[in-house]
Amino acid sequence: MRIGALEAGGTKMVLAIGNEHGEILAREKMPTLTPEETVPAMISWFKEQGIDTLGVASFGPVDVKLGSATYGRILMTPKLAWRQYDLLKTMQEALGVPAKVDSDVNGSCLGEMTYGQAKGLDTVLYLTIGTGIGAGIAVGGKLVHGMLHPEAGHVLITKREDDPGNCICPSHDHCFEGLASGPSIEKRWGKKAHELKENPLVWEIEADYIAQGLVDFILTVSPQMIILGGGVMHQEQLFPLIRAKVVEYLNGYLQTPEILDIDHYIVPASLDDDQGILGAIKLGIEAYEEAANH
Ligand SMILES: [Zn+2]
Repeated sequence: MRIGALEAGGTKMVLAIGNEHGEILAREKMPTLTPEETVPAMISWFKEQGIDTLGVASFGPVDVKLGSATYGRILMTPKLAWRQYDLLKTMQEALGVPAKVDSDVNGSCLGEMTYGQAKGLDTVLYLTIGTGIGAGIAVGGKLVHGMLHPEAGHVLITKREDDPGNCICPSHDHCFEGLASGPSIEKRWGKKAHELKENPLVWEIEADYIAQGLVDFILTVSPQMIILGGGVMHQEQLFPLIRAKVVEYLNGYLQTPEILDIDHYIVPASLDDDQGILGAIKLGIEAYEEAANH
């Protein structure tokens, strides 16, 4: 089976052909321009490659509710050209194959659970911290959908008094993404994260905010593993700081084996930044199987 996979991002599209074992056989990248420019180019690449099914892990918000009349449509995104665009339907009709969509971060969570370090677990949280902050969550082996999909990057956290910056989220005064995303670090310090390695206060504040978010997710979702990906998390010095802050904030309240072994509980992504495209491959496999069972 040739599985078409699309990781649809706000700045670039990653397209791949994979097989059932999660091996990537071909790969292509293109910039995210308008739908009129980008979508026909993606369709013709997949047509040339020849695919049996399609999985899409998309930037959002995106309608992921199976059976919804607007399933696979991009919703109220700040990327105006894509707002209300029927991404999945347009591609599916042009390609004539089964297709399935989920949010980009749910896709990454699925990739880690299928092909990565979270294999065998059923309740997992994947957090990406980069241009924005987003969480993919699986509970009991199923990606969380509900009314939409999780938007856990916008939970409210407490701003530190020694924080010289401000929340940059247009919607909230003190949310996680507005205080801890890559652009927020850059605005606060006037430099990019990778140029700030030598300033300990940068990472003290960043780790504090990430730990505040994680503690809320730990107490609510009870994940068996937390995986941190995205550009900011390439700053590996953050991991020990985040783990220490999480332990401090939990203050002994949870004594599970996972929390007591926190170095193996809060971990970096394991798939060389392919977790999203691998999740899209798994979505493609599911689309194929679900179509066969109908
Ligand atoms: Zn916000």
